Amino acid sequence: MIRVGVLGAAGRMGREVCAAVAAAEDLEPAVAVDPAHVGEEVEGTVVHGTIEALGTAGVEVAVDFTHPTAVMDDARWCLANGIHVVIGTTGLTPGDLEELRGLAEAGVPNAFVAPNFAIGAVLMIRFAAEAARSFDAAEVIELHHDRKADAPSGTAIATARAIAQARAGDWTGPGGDDAHPGARGADVEGVRVHGVRLPGLLAHQEVLFGGPGQTLSIRHDTTDRSAFMPGVLMAIRAVGARPGLTVGLDALL
Ligand code: NAP
Repeated sequence: MIRVGVLGAAGRMGREVCAAVAAAEDLEPAVAVDPAHVGEEVEGTVVHGTIEALGTAGVEVAVDFTHPTAVMDDARWCLANGIHVVIGTTGLTPGDLEELRGLAEAGVPNAFVAPNFAIGAVLMIRFAAEAARSFDAAEVIELHHDRKADAPSGTAIATARAIAQARAGDWTGPGGDDAHPGARGADVEGVRVHGVRLPGLLAHQEVLFGGPGQTLSIRHDTTDRSAFMPGVLMAIRAVGARPGLTVGLDALL
């Protein structure tokens, strides 16, 4: 049995993770942490207000679905206190990843970060990298619910990076937003990324490729947060055996 602590346990993803951990025969929900929900029960686990609860409960793996402003402090604490950490929270910068790599390589506990735990999203990025070699231009449109904290999404940034690396060339497309800054989206490694935020959406992305006389669209839709759970459970089980920092669910597939 792996003893699991969930950070952000009362949030949309945290609740789903608590339920998935409770239902798994080889995982034990040990502690839930979420400062604004102290004393509540999430899937039978009482919510604590501070991360120190992980230490007293003998947690082996912590799962973080909190907020971009909280995740690095959480990860530093876990890695300094002998607890492996699985991070689903998005908004980490390349500098944050480098810091996590240094901390995880310096000590015993390991870190696992994935901007998207849904298998369909991992495949979308892989297919986009494949298509990037054959098209002249690419743009990414990501669409999420209106309470998402960060933009563009971690998945969109990972997709743009994969496209840029696969092509190893100049992807910078036409600008044309002088009169209305932002109209052409953000420039992520030379790939234009457009973010849509609307109630009614969950997590969606379309990658568009264009060349003479043709376009190609690769689209992924997450319609329920259960889509992320097989990947999260896979990471919880794997993180202890992967020294240092692992980035991306594709490393486990
Ligand atoms: P959410 O509903 O706002 O849940 C986050 C929860 O964390 C909230 O209850 C929040 O409390 C709590 N929290 C904030 N700081 C905390 C701290 N220091 N310790 C413990 N809990 C803390 O957000 P969500 O929709 O679940 O998303 C959470 C994160 O996961 C976002 O970054 C999102 O982009 C990411 N995400 C990743 C994936 C993936 O596959 N990797 C999939 C979906 C979402 P308050 O509300 O009081 O601040």
